[in-house]
Amino acid sequence: MSDTTIFDKIINKEIPADIIYEDDLALAFKDINPQAPTHFLVIPKTPIATMNDVNEENAHLVGHLYVVAAKIAAELGFADDGYRAVMNCNEHGGQTVYHIHLHVLAGKPFGWPPY
Ligand code: ADP
Repeated sequence: MSDTTIFDKIINKEIPADIIYEDDLALAFKDINPQAPTHFLVIPKTPIATMNDVNEENAHLVGHLYVVAAKIAAELGFADDGYRAVMNCNEHGGQTVYHIHLHVLAGKPFGWPPY
């Protein structure tokens, strides 16, 4: 597992991304392979590899991802109908990029459970 990921390059503007929100702690951009009519990712600017690495010291960064996700979802008009926010962890969770990211999917109803 590499310490740096493609998301570091997006944070540093070394590769392009469709960035929809940025502040000192987080960045949000459209997923390159959308799984819903609207699909964006919210990531901390500080790299945290997986959800297993979330702890008391960095929990505020993770909480901030949800604040940003809800703010964007509301601005896009999805607050009332709702949306799905997911963080995948390691192989069984389906994680492929080892820099935590909150997937936000919206624009249609989603099923549960997610087989
Ligand atoms: P998965 O690839 O199985 O969805 P993750 O939960 O790790 O696993 O999600 C990584 C997400 O990052 C994917 O949805 C993928 O489409 C997205 N992605 C990868 N590279 C880029 C990129 N350069 N710009 C935007 N999204 C990207």
